[in-house]
Amino acid sequence: KLQSNGDVSEEKILVLVRLRPLSEKEIARNEVADWECINSTTILYRNSLQERSGLPTAYSFDRVFRGDSQTREVYDEGIKEIALSVVDGVNSTVFAYGQTSSGKTYTMNGITEYTVTDIYEYVQRHEERAFVMKFSAMEIYNEVVRDLLSTENTPLRMLDDPERGTIIEKLTEETLRDWNHLKELLSICEAQRQVGETSLNEASSRSHQILRLTIESTAREFIGKGNSTTLAASVNFVDLAGSERASQALSVGQRLKEGCHINRSLLTLSTVIRKLSKGRNGHINYRDSKLTRILQPALGGNARTAIICTLSPSRSHVEQSRNTLLFASCAK
Ligand code: ADP
Ligand code: MG
Repeated sequence: KLQSNGDVSEEKILVLVRLRPLSEKEIARNEVADWECINSTTILYRNSLQERSGLPTAYSFDRVFRGDSQTREVYDEGIKEIALSVVDGVNSTVFAYGQTSSGKTYTMNGITEYTVTDIYEYVQRHEERAFVMKFSAMEIYNEVVRDLLSTENTPLRMLDDPERGTIIEKLTEETLRDWNHLKELLSICEAQRQVGETSLNEASSRSHQILRLTIESTAREFIGKGNSTTLAASVNFVDLAGSERASQALSVGQRLKEGCHINRSLLTLSTVIRKLSKGRNGHINYRDSKLTRILQPALGGNARTAIICTLSPSRSHVEQSRNTLLFASCAK
């Protein structure tokens, strides 16, 4: 029997903001960094021209991280607790949201690695339980779901199973042997994503990537005794499409269809997140996009959610940075 653990909680969404440093290229172009974290929760826009424009200059969140912060600090500050709830049978999702080149992938790669390391440590300390870890990876591009562990490029169908909810047909699910096995799988995902990148012109900025780690555990003393209960839960690491796509909703021309589709997932996510931030009860339209449909079990109910909003410090990106902070504010 499979079971999910925990009480239905009114858990808030954890919202973190991470500034990245100016890149060498930006420095070479004489770009100016206008954003500054003035303490651990407030980020400030310091530009005398903008300050007179009447737009807000200070934004507060659960935690903000300076450009020179380490991914380890971001992980330790709340993400760790949320991601590791998976070993207790609680589903969770960690998102990276931000414009292209703001540091989503950089941040998520580190977070994923730290989580897996900690899960392996936990498993070793808890010999009284038998753990099975499974890994799957998918990409959503133009509302089409692809398997990142398969070299076949065929779109995957989503089905409604009365018992298991939404399932993705034929999605590869690998049972992990060890840490190295996962490393291998992660590099396959990266390669798959890069294949798309050359053919589809920076697909990573237009697609959502979901890495999913599922943990099942059973108390050894009950194994084979018929009354054993298996705890099962997933932690999802979601590297979202560049958020600049969401603000191009009204763009016209050839990209319209693509824009609309990407926006459907991003905009539906914004709506879902906004509703979740006001409490986990009530009707939420998960079914309006593939992304939210796939993540539904890891967003609603007793699931735990964290969003890391990544920000470029550059003056030339101020418009997008403000949009990102607006999204972050709605999620609080
Ligand atoms: P995105 O996934 O949002 O498009 P990336 O994660 O690829 O952005 O980051 C863009 C570039 O900036 C990469 O070269 C990355 O190594 C670098 N970078 C991002 N965040 C940081 C950071 N916090 N510290 C140092 N370098 C960073
Ligand atoms: Mg990226």
